[in-house]
Amino acid sequence: MLPEEKIARRFSEKRGLTPPVNVEALVQEFATLEEDFLPADYDAVFLDKSANHPRPRVIITVGQPATRRVFTLAHELGHIVIPWHNGTHFCRVGAEARLVDRLVKEVESQANRFAAELLMPSAWVTELIGKTGGLKNQIDAVRQANVSYHAASIRLIQLLPPGFAFIEVDSSDHIIRTASSPGTFVRIPDEGAKLNQHDLDSIAADSVTFKSGSSKIHWWHFLAKIKPPLAASSGETSNEMIKRIANEVFQDETAARKAVMSVNGVIGAANGTNLRQAHGDLFTILKQRFLGRHEIAPLVGHSQFDEFLYKRVKDIEARQ
Ligand SMILES: [Zn+2]
Repeated sequence: MLPEEKIARRFSEKRGLTPPVNVEALVQEFATLEEDFLPADYDAVFLDKSANHPRPRVIITVGQPATRRVFTLAHELGHIVIPWHNGTHFCRVGAEARLVDRLVKEVESQANRFAAELLMPSAWVTELIGKTGGLKNQIDAVRQANVSYHAASIRLIQLLPPGFAFIEVDSSDHIIRTASSPGTFVRIPDEGAKLNQHDLDSIAADSVTFKSGSSKIHWWHFLAKIKPPLAASSGETSNEMIKRIANEVFQDETAARKAVMSVNGVIGAANGTNLRQAHGDLFTILKQRFLGRHEIAPLVGHSQFDEFLYKRVKDIEARQ
């Protein structure tokens, strides 16, 4: 837990706060709250107390959606409560904020983390995760804190066990943001790419989609174990098999050789990580790591690729 999160936790414990937190009343306890039209997408401005103004001032921009307003106010409370956040702050609470100055960025991130812990305490979220089944219910439960799908998603993904991810896409299905819970092996596509939902659905046990402003947030809970294919009894070794498949798929011999090298590279890296972290089912992990590899997509899409993969898993396990 980071210092600003500890400060938020102590603050809320001292006052016996539980979600949903009335953060507007809290800000008004410490500062004068004003509303105005702010330039350049700013959510709020924090002005420390001065000779002319004995109380700090928070100016929040007019017309924010209710849940964003709550988060902005909690962020401003962070500037008030975190001892080293004195001075003036021009605030953009969205993580998408284009902040160039590293120091400003760090201070803004600290205020965001303070806000997240104040509104959605980690102990509270962890308890909800434990007693709520299903992705949709878990996200709805966190939203009781009076936060957006966006804020609830970011909070949840930090606290869920391995095997969860979400992807936020714009109105044309291009990826804006991705996140997976700690320890998740699944290869998540890059920002800017177009989302191929089917790929991720195919290895998921549960999924759900929420609309959030002009974007959409897709969530997945991945299968803990993907069922291996029935092995056909061929005399081929896994090496012979992948070479044959590559030659079937690629006309060009160099391209085929390169593709086989890529496949071996992905398997080697995944196996190494798996060994280091003493994790579970290698076939499942390999399936997760081969997701969305465009450069070798025809190979991965071959009807016998999974069979090859399973054969290779057996080879690796026999050697260990
Ligand atoms: Zn700020």
